[in-house]
Amino acid sequence: MKIRLSAVLSSVLITGVFALADAAQAAGQDAGATIHIVRGGMAPPSKGAEANFTGDVSVDRLFPANDPLSISGGYVSFAPGARTAWHTHPEGQMLIVTAGSGRVRQWGGPLLEIRQGDVVWFPAGVKHWHGAAPDASMTHIALAKIVDGKSSTWMEKVSDEQYNGQ
Ligand code: MN
Repeated sequence: MKIRLSAVLSSVLITGVFALADAAQAAGQDAGATIHIVRGGMAPPSKGAEANFTGDVSVDRLFPANDPLSISGGYVSFAPGARTAWHTHPEGQMLIVTAGSGRVRQWGGPLLEIRQGDVVWFPAGVKHWHGAAPDASMTHIALAKIVDGKSSTWMEKVSDEQYNGQ
């Protein structure tokens, strides 16, 4: 009886270890995996491309486009009145507003105000823009999945009338 119990416990233990190994493998771990840190401030922020933005916009890429998650990450600061052009994202986009206040709008929709602490989701393929308020700057972290090498499809600029909600 004692031997049998021990055999059962061993069996449970071995099964448990293999289950853990399976779980680690399922989570994508391998024996040589190590933590990787991309240090802040290593590359200076660049000015937002003239074709894709209106006003003064600073874009700081958070990690390379070949990141293992295939996500584009940007830390983007808009001066008052600055905004993106109209655009879409193939798998949608999340904004985390880290400072200031601003506005977002989807094609045919109302002007929506955003401020520090807000998290905004633009569904896949929805044409939209994001930017600062007229009288305040706004900074957000933007996260979007990369599909076929790109995370955005850029369109026409946002007119002053569109920016003001008309
Ligand atoms: Mn967007």
